[in-house]
Parts: sequence; C-alpha cells; structure tokens
Amino acid sequence: MKRRVIIVGGGFAGIFAMRRLRLSRRRLEVIVIDQRPSAHFLPLLPDMISRPIAPASVMHDLRAECRRWDAMFLHDEVAAVDVPGVAVITRGLGRLSADAIVLSCGTSTAFHGRDDLRPAVMKLDDVGDAVEIAARARSAHWKTALVVGGGYTGVEVATHLRRLENLRRSRRRIIILELAPVLLPGMPRPLSEYAAANLMRMRIEVMNNRTLRDVIDQDAILSDESVFKNVLIVWSAGVKTPAFLSRLNLGHDRQGRLDVDKHLQAAPGVFVAGDAAGRIGGGAALRMGVQFSISGGRRAAANILRSLDGRALKPFEPMDPGYVIPMANMRSCGEILGVSAYGLAPSMMHYLMSVYRTFGAKRLKLLGDILRRR
Ligand SMILES: Cc1cc2nc3c(=O)[nH]c(=O)nc-3n(C[C@H](O)[C@H](O)[C@H](O)COP(=O)(O)OP(=O)(O)OC[C@H]3O[C@@H](n4cnc5c(N)ncnc54)[C@H](O)[C@@H]3O)c2cc1C
Repeated sequence: MKRRVIIVGGGFAGIFAMRRLRLSRRRLEVIVIDQRPSAHFLPLLPDMISRPIAPASVMHDLRAECRRWDAMFLHDEVAAVDVPGVAVITRGLGRLSADAIVLSCGTSTAFHGRDDLRPAVMKLDDVGDAVEIAARARSAHWKTALVVGGGYTGVEVATHLRRLENLRRSRRRIIILELAPVLLPGMPRPLSEYAAANLMRMRIEVMNNRTLRDVIDQDAILSDESVFKNVLIVWSAGVKTPAFLSRLNLGHDRQGRLDVDKHLQAAPGVFVAGDAAGRIGGGAALRMGVQFSISGGRRAAANILRSLDGRALKPFEPMDPGYVIPMANMRSCGEILGVSAYGLAPSMMHYLMSVYRTFGAKRLKLLGDILRRR
C-alpha cells in the first residue's frame, strides 16, 4: 500500500516539500491542501501598490503545479489536526489520515485583539488585498494615509504609497504609526536609522509610541487622542499563524509558531516548515522569509522520507542568505551574507530574487512588469 503524506499549505514551504517528496520517486501519495486555489508571491505584494504588476504574474495555480509533479491538490481549509493520530480534519472532506504531515500554513495579519478595527482598515495578506490597497490609494477620498506598524512590511507599504503619490503629482500625508520607540524594532540599529532617514527624505512621517485606537466614520483616533480626518489605513502590525495551529496541544510562541525539534518535527509524524515553524531545538525561531521557508520545506520532506525508511533524521541547518528591507525609491537596506548593504544594491537584490523565485514560467513577464514605470 502507498504511504500518504499530507502537506497543509501550498506556499513556498509546502510547494518545495511536495517537490522534494516527488523527486525521490518513492511510491507515495502526496496531497497538498490549501484554502486558496493558487499560491501568492508575497514579497511583491507591496510593489503592486505603485508598480503595474499584474495579479496573474504573482499567482501560481496549485492544481496545475501538483499535477505537474504527480501530487494531488485539495482546495479545502484545514480546521484541525489530530496530532497523535497523524490526521488532518478539513472543512470539506473531514478526516484524512496520513503516515506523515507537513504543517506549512504560514501566517497572516494579527489584529492583537482589535478585530473590531478590521472593517475600517486594509491588510496585506494576499494578492486581493494588494489590489484593494492599490485601488483605494488611487482614490481622491483620503487626505492622510496611516500605516499601522513600522516593521518591514509597514515601511515598504508606506514607500509605495509615496511613490504612487509622486507619480500622480499628489502630496498627501503618509504616516507610519509604531508602538515601539524605534522604527523597525528588532532590526540592527544602523538599518533602522538608515530606513528612518530615507523615509524622512520621502516625506513619510514616523510617529513612535503611538497606535490606532479607533476609527469613526472616516476619522482615525490615535492612542494619544489625536484625530486624523479622511484616512486611508493599512494595518501591518504583526502576524500570527492560523487559529487551528495555536489551538493544538503543542508548544508555540506568541505568534502561534510551533516549537519543533532540530529535525523540524513537532510530534511523531508531524513536521512543521516555513513561517509556521518557531523555536527550533529549544533555540530561537528563524526570521520569517522565503529562503528559510524553501529550505525548511525541503528538509521536512527529506526527513519524512528518512523516517518512512527507518533511517536517522538529519538536523535542519539552513544557510542564511540575509534579508532586505525594500523601499520603493530604490534606497533599500539589509544584510546580505552577513554584510550590511544600503541603497541600490539591496533593491536590485530584492527584485532579482523575486524574479528568480517566482513560480512557473512567468519570470520574463514579471521582470517586464517591474521595469515598467507605471
Ligand atoms: C507583504 C509581505 C512581504 C514580504 N516580503 C518578503 C521579502 O521581501 N523577502 C522574504 O524573504 N520574505 C518576505 N515575506 C515573507 C515571506 O513571504 C514568507 O516568509 C513566506 O511566504 C512563508 O512561506 P510559507 O510557505 O511558510 O507560508 P505562505 O507563503 O504564507 O503559505 C502558506 C499557505 O498556507 C495556506 N493556508 C493557511 N492556513 C490554511 C488552512 N487552515 N488550510 C489550508 N491552507 C491554509 C495559505 O493559503 C497559503 O497558501 C513577505 C511577507 C509579506 C506578507
């Protein structure tokens, strides 16, 4: 009888886990389950606000991808996992048991108990969100754009809003609200200082120690009681894993990312890869990013093959290529292979990596979209 592996989530980690399993040419039934019919290329979502990137260029059909690799795709939402029974429970099909599971369901926007604000703000979790922000940013109905959260997504979004305003010869206010006393909290200080100086150059204001308290009609009230009328609000104040993951009787961190051992296993037969994986082997969690997700997906799959063969598992020891905080005026910053980088080079790196990592044969089209000015 064929052994069965179920992969929950067809993002970077899930797709690369599926490909690794199929490359082994083992007699396996591989099932990828995703609540969306296509994978969305998240690193280019902020760019969609000011650049003419077509939604089709950053979406990849999961059914076709799975068919190409002789895997099965189920368009369904996983609602629970039976960890001791190594099974998932989906909304559509109910219980599906397996010999091993990869949980690679990523993260999405966290509202930190302020779900009441959802109807009044926009978020940036998928291509649909990016299209909505791009459309509303082009409307005449706002005077001030508030970006809630001064992490890398908030910074990137604010710079694309400014780029769009510049292209449209408009000079409306753009403000980042950051609860911490510094921009890009947790990032090395020289990077956050460089980003702050660049934002100032782009006429983007940063208000520290403040957040959004309420939205009444089109007016925003901040935590310091100041009021902004006619606002456009993008909420990018952190992420969390899907609720079903943090409900499991497994260790997890504040964001719901699961604790795993050094082989990426959270429990016997249950592996975790990509952003859903938190502290590894009792140590720290990895930075959320494409490269770690891809290598995590591959390692989880390779360890599943080993465990099915009764062989010893291998530890997850990924190479860290670094990261970039992209900013729309091509003055980005980051660390590449351990070296700090500022200006055009990290911007180019962001776009080159995005084109290289794009799924399928859409690279040329995407490159064309990025190079077109508007
Ligand atoms: C706006 C933005 C910009 C970013 N920019 C960069 C960047 O420049 N460079 C970089 O390295 N990283 C960047 N990242 C981070 C990077 O995109 C993530 O680290 C990466 O996508 C994580 O891959 P993953 O496979 O773990 O999860 P994802 O790519 O998020 O995929 C998870 C999949 O699981 C599915 N799923 C979730 N819950 C369920 C469920 N209950 N049932 C079924 N399916 C489910 C989702 O639909 C999704 O398809 C960015 C992220 C965002 C949001």
